[in-house]
Amino acid sequence: MAERSIGQIARIIDARPILAEHNTMVSRFLMDSRQFSSAQGVLFFALRGKNHDGHHYIRELIKKGVCNFVVEELPEEEFSECNFLIVPDALAALQKLAHEVRLESTARIIAITGSNGKTVVKEWLSQILQKQFEVCRSPKSYNSQIGVPLSVWELEPNHQVGVFEAGISEPGEMERLERILQPEMGIFTNIGTAHDVNFRDQQHKISEKLKLFKNTKKLVYQKDNSLLSKAIETFASEHQVELLSWSTSIPKVDLFIDQVETENNTTRFKGNFKGNRIEIKIPFVDEASHENALHCWRLALELEMDTGLLSSAFAELEAVEMRLEMKSGTNGNLIINDAYNSDLESLRVALHYLEHQGRNRKKVLILSDMFQSALATPELNLKVEEMINRWELDQVIGIGKGLQESRIKLNAPVDLYRDSQEFLRNIFKYRFRDSAILLKGARSFRFEEISARLEAKSHETVLNIHFDRVVQNLNYFRSLLKPETRVMVMVKAFSYGSGSYEIANLLEFHQVNYLGVAYTDEGVELRKAGISLPILVLNPEQSSFSDLIEHRLEPEIYSLQQLKLFSESLKTMGVSEAVAIHLKLETGMNRLGFVQEEMDELIGALQDDQMIRVASAFSHLAASDEPAERDFTFSQIDRFRVMTEKLRNALGYDFLRHICNSSGISQYPESHFDMVRLGIGLYGVGANPTDKKHLKVVSELYATVSQIKQLKPGDSVSYGRSFIADKPTTLAVVSIGYADGFRRSLSNGVGEVAIRSKRYPVLGRVCMDMIMVDVTGSDVKAGDQVEIFGPTISIYELADKMKTIPYEVFTGIGQRVKRVYFME
Ligand SMILES: *Cc1c(COP(=O)(O)O)cnc(C)c1O
Repeated sequence: MAERSIGQIARIIDARPILAEHNTMVSRFLMDSRQFSSAQGVLFFALRGKNHDGHHYIRELIKKGVCNFVVEELPEEEFSECNFLIVPDALAALQKLAHEVRLESTARIIAITGSNGKTVVKEWLSQILQKQFEVCRSPKSYNSQIGVPLSVWELEPNHQVGVFEAGISEPGEMERLERILQPEMGIFTNIGTAHDVNFRDQQHKISEKLKLFKNTKKLVYQKDNSLLSKAIETFASEHQVELLSWSTSIPKVDLFIDQVETENNTTRFKGNFKGNRIEIKIPFVDEASHENALHCWRLALELEMDTGLLSSAFAELEAVEMRLEMKSGTNGNLIINDAYNSDLESLRVALHYLEHQGRNRKKVLILSDMFQSALATPELNLKVEEMINRWELDQVIGIGKGLQESRIKLNAPVDLYRDSQEFLRNIFKYRFRDSAILLKGARSFRFEEISARLEAKSHETVLNIHFDRVVQNLNYFRSLLKPETRVMVMVKAFSYGSGSYEIANLLEFHQVNYLGVAYTDEGVELRKAGISLPILVLNPEQSSFSDLIEHRLEPEIYSLQQLKLFSESLKTMGVSEAVAIHLKLETGMNRLGFVQEEMDELIGALQDDQMIRVASAFSHLAASDEPAERDFTFSQIDRFRVMTEKLRNALGYDFLRHICNSSGISQYPESHFDMVRLGIGLYGVGANPTDKKHLKVVSELYATVSQIKQLKPGDSVSYGRSFIADKPTTLAVVSIGYADGFRRSLSNGVGEVAIRSKRYPVLGRVCMDMIMVDVTGSDVKAGDQVEIFGPTISIYELADKMKTIPYEVFTGIGQRVKRVYFME
């Protein structure tokens, strides 16, 4: 990690400095105020994006003790104790600073780009080169306009090699990354066929990516007869780049692999390299791993690594896990599992996640030694210590000899164990309860055994929910809104089946303005989990009013009688401050809501009541997703406008107005009013082709094969014997039934499931907890994962087959199905 004084940084980035203290040292950058952990040595870059302006967070950060800022504009208030560096473009300033750090480094820089495999190649190459060199690599998949500068900032004088990945989403970006990285060598992994909106075509995408290598000396690529290898060859001859080629099919390359043998879980490659016979072995058998490993091999050969080190490095390659996994554990615990190769940056991300998801729970960190780091152990341990001490933890458990010998000094109580087994023998001592437990272990420590011990045992059917997709979908809808329009997200019905506080927590983190639930109990759950956003309750029953008030929930009020009851209970409870309510207006749905004729009486009642404040007035569109009903929808919107105008004039104060649900947001952009209510769209289901294109379904439902059975002609399957085999048939019993939401109407071939992307039909009737599927002629075996909906079978298809809509499929997924959360 580089360190510079604020004065030096001002000079490097050509800023106009307003300095309270020239010599303040900066060692870390912050771009996102939500990632704040401690103010020590932090420089905040106020970046401006499409839906975001970092300048808005300056005040809040100053309160937390941050005192160094790169800004495009000074805040209006004066903060005389703080350092401000004023620049025309904060992102460009960050990049300029990184460029400077790069110029000072003597490390040989290797840059990796391509559509797939960048992160794995970067990680593997670092794992390999670390055997012989001091290596700096980009953390996780930091490959963007912000990620690359942050990665380069990690370069230190002792580094001999830097391995960085670079990714782009639009033309022009690669030139900036090239200027920062100035790589000496490169790897172009491959090019995907997916169409990216920002590029004209494949050729255009390739030529933009190649700009990363315009000044490199050497470039690794796979020679075959593709568009990509042709383009690379032309580019190399134009820019005097030496090509380092490998191939499994074309002998005229530097590294020709002529034998690929796989057995058990390993692959052995043999080939010719400049006249010599050479070989390596890797502990992976899939094709993507083959390609990634061969890229690394060709590059490592160029660095003339010691042959013995090289072969042991390949044999020991570790899988690259890029996501955090969150599950519920026994005794109300929450288990966060991060098996990502342990590096400091991923530890920081994971601790941040623990803090954020853990909320009011006790926080426990179970950490193993960190292996893959260029730092010598004592120095690394100091950094680990500093990193961990930035957070408030209740218990730390260190596993491994390195930690045991390090005498690590932490603020939290620490227990050290030699290995996972020793800890497991002592785990009973801890009585973890209502705790958030972060498992952060290098693979060889086998933390999965610890995780298995802590997890709640359940039915082997899981709904996997991907947080990154939730955020992508949210951002898509945000991009359709004016910056000032607020967002309420509907998290009713267990967040459309995908979890309650987990989703709410994520949304709070991403600063939505309101949450909406159906019943008071749902809101109380969220409050108990520590959610502090305002929450609207759509259907507050009279019996729940006191819970509602106690937990600061805000009721929908839809009738005069209900208003009266609510107002009376406020009096009985002796509430002393005005309570926020939300008026539901009837405009055409004919469900709950005040009709036009009731408005005068409603206004009268509200004017008389000092204890009630109208926070918003809203209505609901009956057919926002029906193009044929546009006239009707416009009539609803008009009626809403008239009713709310009247209300506003009479009340004499302003309140929020909102009418659009998910499809309303994209179909009626002129009618967003002050807020929108996002529901199904957040979960990735779109009602029209444009939305569908931008959204990604957030969840995937999986079961497992419990048993395989052979049927003879004449054997029948399941209740009622509705299926009778007419030929030898193989069936798989699968762990899902109608109690989990796999409807009985999917019986007898109506429904299908997918195993390793192949479809198999349901045989006979669906039972409560199980189904049978026809897997004749396949190699399906007990324990295989079975997709119910996901990459092969879409939620739309499943809903169609159940003769319903995705809403009902999501909300029909049984409570006993375990929810597992992933964060990329
Ligand atoms: C459920 C609900 C929404 C969200 O609707 P989607 O179609 O899922 O976007 C919005 N408003 C109200 C009142 C709702 O009940």
